Amino acid sequence: MSGNSVRLDAISKTLSYQLPKAINYTEEPTGKLFATNVFSLPVMKERLSKEVYKSLEKTIKSGTPLDISAADAIASAMKSWAMEKGATHYGHIFYPLTGLTAEKNDSFFSPDNEGGVVSEFSGATLMQQEPDGSSFPTGGIRATHEARGYTAWDVTSPAYLVENPNGLTLTIPSAFVSWTGEALDKKTPLLRSMKALNTHAQRVLALFGHKKIGMVTATAGAEQEYFLIDRNFYMARPDLLTAGRTLFGAPSPKGQEFEDHYFGAINERVQACMYEFERELFKLGVPVKTRHNEVAPAQFELAPVFENSNIASDHQQLVMNVLQKVSAKYGFACLLHEKPFAGINGNGKHVNMSLGNSTQGNLLEPGDNPHSNAQFLVFCAAVIRAVHKYSTLLRASVASASNDHRLGANEAPPAIMSIFLGDQLNDVFEQIKATGDASSSKPSGTLTVGVDTLPPLPKHAGDRNRTSPFAFTGNKFEFRAVGSSQSVARPIMIVNTILAESLDYIATKLEGAADFNKAVQVLLKEIMVEHGAIIFNGNGYSQEWHEEAAKRGLPNLKTTPEALPAYITPEAIALFEKYAILSHDELESIYEVALEQYLKVVNMESNLVVEMSKTIIFPAAVRYQNQLAQTCANLKSVGYTFDTDTLDKVTALVKLLQDSTAALEKFKASESLELLEEAKFVCANTLPMMLEVRKHADALESFVADDLWSLPTYQEMLFIK
Ligand code: ADP
Ligand code: MG
Repeated sequence: MSGNSVRLDAISKTLSYQLPKAINYTEEPTGKLFATNVFSLPVMKERLSKEVYKSLEKTIKSGTPLDISAADAIASAMKSWAMEKGATHYGHIFYPLTGLTAEKNDSFFSPDNEGGVVSEFSGATLMQQEPDGSSFPTGGIRATHEARGYTAWDVTSPAYLVENPNGLTLTIPSAFVSWTGEALDKKTPLLRSMKALNTHAQRVLALFGHKKIGMVTATAGAEQEYFLIDRNFYMARPDLLTAGRTLFGAPSPKGQEFEDHYFGAINERVQACMYEFERELFKLGVPVKTRHNEVAPAQFELAPVFENSNIASDHQQLVMNVLQKVSAKYGFACLLHEKPFAGINGNGKHVNMSLGNSTQGNLLEPGDNPHSNAQFLVFCAAVIRAVHKYSTLLRASVASASNDHRLGANEAPPAIMSIFLGDQLNDVFEQIKATGDASSSKPSGTLTVGVDTLPPLPKHAGDRNRTSPFAFTGNKFEFRAVGSSQSVARPIMIVNTILAESLDYIATKLEGAADFNKAVQVLLKEIMVEHGAIIFNGNGYSQEWHEEAAKRGLPNLKTTPEALPAYITPEAIALFEKYAILSHDELESIYEVALEQYLKVVNMESNLVVEMSKTIIFPAAVRYQNQLAQTCANLKSVGYTFDTDTLDKVTALVKLLQDSTAALEKFKASESLELLEEAKFVCANTLPMMLEVRKHADALESFVADDLWSLPTYQEMLFIK
């Protein structure tokens, strides 16, 4: 086998990999592990007094504030439970605006002043902590006040134990707010949005005559795509290590064109790793359900059963953490980046969403009687109106430097937001739009809203459209533009908010209507006429759609700097303030932090391109150039001629590499630019310049002698495990 020693070493280590000691799954069946590390409702019921449990359950199930007097009792029960299992530390876990997970841990133990220690954990400590959060970005919110940030226990999301071979930490899901009460995290707005959604969904349900209406919760199930590559290759690629994606790399002779990986048999080591993912997640109460190979080689997917979207969002962060942690144990690096490899499908995170309650069930379930159909059509129309009216907010919620490489790249939905309804539901809404009451003739009969039943709507496959960013899939919508590495909290928060606004609008229009059925028909028609342009059932990847969408006036915000200003339009500010989900300041802070993040990523990547080009690629190229030149000189000296074709090409490429690298290195945005201008500037200049360097480097990769090339190739990373 040829190859550079770094690569050969990585290959041989990969090939000699031995699986860790097998899990004894008969002795400890995975099914029995579910939620064993969670301070769950059943555990609370067992360990709390009836009174305290009732008050806590009420808070969790109906969103009422927790009775403070219960906190001490809960803290004490939580501490004993955790310590019985071996925990020594506790900490609030929170989700700062950067989208990462943050925590600070404290020991349960304090000196007792008599030479020993006591374990302490009061209700006050459970409820609130003050981590030194001054280094978390706030987009300026705190610069003007004080650097204090508080974490507050989110009572609705259960505490859990995080295992480490050397100990356990009691982890308490929390919100993170400034001392003036502004949200510095992603959970707080999500919770606020769920509250608003509940309020207005309940109003609409009441109009349909329901007497008993349970709290309506948003539900979410996020499918997570990821790559697993051997850590030995990962460690030999500074770009993967630092940027999470390859900044260089010629295409593999075999890519994904055979599509032979999709749903294929799963490699044994990968499967062993998946079993452990699932066990670890099960212990944490994350209901993981589905696993399979994805389209790209070395790409996989994992999906849980849906949950209340606040919990689903916390669990999604856990999924990402556990994937990283467990894959390392199996010698893999788990790549969650949206586009780890150019020319190969990237990673998405399809977030399935609906809303429902214990009394009326899933509100996006079409049902099979006219009454529930009309109700379904109203909720569905609310989604249509919301997505059309606020499509730029949805777009902003998935905007990041990394997702820009994926959206619109013929593998993922375009940056144009649209809704896919499927043929039958589309037909129903087309009839509504044309006649007001969907009474035209159709294959399954004539439909009048509120009188007839809908034709059966397909729930699964067959009628699937992978190209749509927001697709109706039988009883839920699937937001497919979400990035694989991002937190789902914000996209869900945006959907909840815009849907709450639509439901508010609908409820306000229908309340007090003399003839309810008629009013529903009129309203549905109005919504379709005004907002039907968002519906598109065709191929979202096609050029025709881009043209058609432009004609329909649907925004196509291709890059993050174009997408982010949607957060701070007067319309957005009014929307979020009206429902008390985000203040003007909080929106400004979200916007600024997202811009800063974008700039940091692009700048870091550009520095990395320069460094790798100068210290890895250029040296390999000139060594090869030198070998060719020496061969040429040697041959000449004994009277032979040497075809310098390769030497000429390599020399030309070396020059191009050097020049493009020097240009990128020198290139700096002017410091006087505003953040947005700077982001636009680097988007338009730095990114293309990075690609220019890459172009020459990748061309050199196909010339330079294999034994001089130290970066693991696409072929090696994607196919050897
Ligand atoms: P498909 O594979 O066709 O996309 P699945 O039925 O496998 O659909 O569901 C995909 C994801 O959607 C899963 O995480 C599932 O739990 C979630 N899901 C199903 N119903 C709902 C719902 N009512 N609300 C939110 N998510 C849901
Ligand atoms: Mg799906």
